[in-house]
Amino acid sequence: MNPTSSPHDLLLVIGLAWAAIASLALAGLIWQLWSLRRRLLDLTGGDGSLSPRRSIREAMTHLQAIVAAQHNLLAQTSRTRDQLRDAARSAERLRRQQWAAQQLFARLDEGVFMASHDGKVFEVNPALEDMLQRPAHQMRERRLGDVLAPEDAPFFQNLCGNILQLGHWEGRLVLRRADRSAFPAFLRLLSLLDDAGRPQYLLGVLQDLSPVEETRAQLHQLTHHDPLTGLQNRASFLDEVDAILQADPERHWLLAIIGIDRFTIVNDTLGPHLGNRILVQVAARLRHALQPSERLAHLGGDEFVLLMPLVAPESSHARALERAGTFLESLRRPIELKEPRYTLKLTGSLGMAVFPHDGRRADELVQAAHLALLQAKSSGGDQAALHDASMSQLVTRRFHLEQGLRHALERREIEGFLHPLISAQAGQLEGFECLMRWRHQDGAYVPPEEFIPVAEETGLIIPLTTWLLDQACLHLASWRNQTGKPLFLSLNVSPRQLLDPKLPDLLIRTLHKHRLDPTALMLEITESGLVGSIVLVRERILQLAMRGFLIAVDDFGTGQSTLSLLNELPIDKLKIDQSFIRDRIPQDAEAVKIVEAMLALAKGLQLAVVVEGVETAEQAQFIRQRLPTALLQGFLFGAPQPLHAWDGLLLEGKLPSYDWNKEKGA
Ligand code: C2E
Ligand code: CA
Ligand code: CA
Repeated sequence: MNPTSSPHDLLLVIGLAWAAIASLALAGLIWQLWSLRRRLLDLTGGDGSLSPRRSIREAMTHLQAIVAAQHNLLAQTSRTRDQLRDAARSAERLRRQQWAAQQLFARLDEGVFMASHDGKVFEVNPALEDMLQRPAHQMRERRLGDVLAPEDAPFFQNLCGNILQLGHWEGRLVLRRADRSAFPAFLRLLSLLDDAGRPQYLLGVLQDLSPVEETRAQLHQLTHHDPLTGLQNRASFLDEVDAILQADPERHWLLAIIGIDRFTIVNDTLGPHLGNRILVQVAARLRHALQPSERLAHLGGDEFVLLMPLVAPESSHARALERAGTFLESLRRPIELKEPRYTLKLTGSLGMAVFPHDGRRADELVQAAHLALLQAKSSGGDQAALHDASMSQLVTRRFHLEQGLRHALERREIEGFLHPLISAQAGQLEGFECLMRWRHQDGAYVPPEEFIPVAEETGLIIPLTTWLLDQACLHLASWRNQTGKPLFLSLNVSPRQLLDPKLPDLLIRTLHKHRLDPTALMLEITESGLVGSIVLVRERILQLAMRGFLIAVDDFGTGQSTLSLLNELPIDKLKIDQSFIRDRIPQDAEAVKIVEAMLALAKGLQLAVVVEGVETAEQAQFIRQRLPTALLQGFLFGAPQPLHAWDGLLLEGKLPSYDWNKEKGA
């Protein structure tokens, strides 16, 4: 690209050379011919006649010389022709090189510019126009710093000042387009020297790094974040926490795991698609509750993990509980889903571990916090627990329970027990509550309070209750025939089952199998289960009521207030919880007031009542006087008995009953 040499100039030089060589050759030939003529004149004596002094041999020698000279001339001409051909070839090569350079300049993806050594741009390629979104004419004759608009202007100015000494430079810069938007670029700057070694031009090649950096950022996002919630993922979080703990080992840190209570139930019922939408909302809420010094990540499933510094270790416990309270509160607001519309009321539990007390590495802290989370969940959820050493025992026990429960049905370790329900008015048997018992391999009964929550969490409650209902119906059908009484069964339905879309069909099928109709079955739904996920529960209860099942609110008075729901839902019965009756009625004035209010409420709403925990005659009398239509359940009428034990009692006509006159019955 030397501006002084062009192919046209070269062709002119070659033409001139060719003309000079050709005229020299012509002059040589003329001279040869002229000397031949002279020699011929010598031979003929000047007048054309042959001289005797000249021999024919001499003439021949001269002729040979002439032929040789002609040969020489021809050889010289052919050499000149070769030289000319070579010159034409190199001109062609030069022309092609120049063409290629122009093409390259025009089509290169990199932006290229040339500037004078004092930093004024005089040539730019189209890629640079695209990159900076500036037409070439706006760049020519302008200062390089103004054209590239680097973010770090002083550095760039310094660089341009030193490039003559440096010779070349390359590195990353952030430049600005014409619209002032910034982008990262890689610049190679080269100072070009002339033949005398003086700096002549600046050549710059620019590569736009934004696509590369975007891809890198995407890759980082993919490998370090969870695509669903956009939060950091487990692996990346653990790495980062380890780095933080190592960098600042003197500090105290709190690692907390937040889990959504009974999320498996929600996920199973609504399906993973809606389950994921819930997780996205939960993630957003937790993120919103976050403080600048805290980190949040998605541990997997319904679990999220937090790391926060504890400023003063002595007040750390209070501080940890305060923060835990904030996060749990953020989960309590109902979650609204659109299409399909659902309003869900969820709660969360939180398990906490402290560095360095509960572990020195991130994975140890996660394990410890997990134990605490299990503790919080098994204490009913919607609460926080701090890790302590005794928890690992608790978790081991739970693990064994879960393993054992998985095989309990096939090992015939599950038994059905029935607890009679007696009418307050007549003291007669009306029905039974079905209760589940698990006699473990080692012979001991596992308390229902311990295994029922495990069965609910693992989903085992569904096959277990199906089995229990089938067994109870089998017996009830024959007792109905024997006694001629329309005895009914009251079945506990856990929240997990209530949300199971297959529940209504399953119940109908089982009753049908034993030729029983839906009025033979009352479904006990706990008060806390009712408010769990309002819309879904409402839909399911309506569905069940329309099929003819009776619905009772179990443990009434212990959960959050469901008074408004009582009006809206097709509820038939309230089961007043035993905690208000046992050991409290009639001596505890407050319990008396509560129970009286509940009975009045039931009367007002025209709901039937079952009172649990009736252990004494006074208690039975107390209820009977205020609400004669109530049903009574309690140890006054006997403890729950296995199904087969009832076979014998009913066959012998020994029905549980209560004789108000005698004060005591069998
Ligand atoms: P719940 O549904 O409130 O059942 C009543 C519990 O109170 C039964 O205990 C019953 O034996 C007990 N009870 C009733 N009257 C008295 C009394 O006068 N004195 C005393 N001390 N206790 C009385 P159980 O069978 O131990 O059941 C405990 C809980 O386990 C039940 O409370 C229920 O929540 C759960 N459960 C039991 N069986 C099942 C089941 O098949 N499915 C489900 N989902 N839960 C069940
Ligand atoms: Ca019950
Ligand atoms: Ca109860």
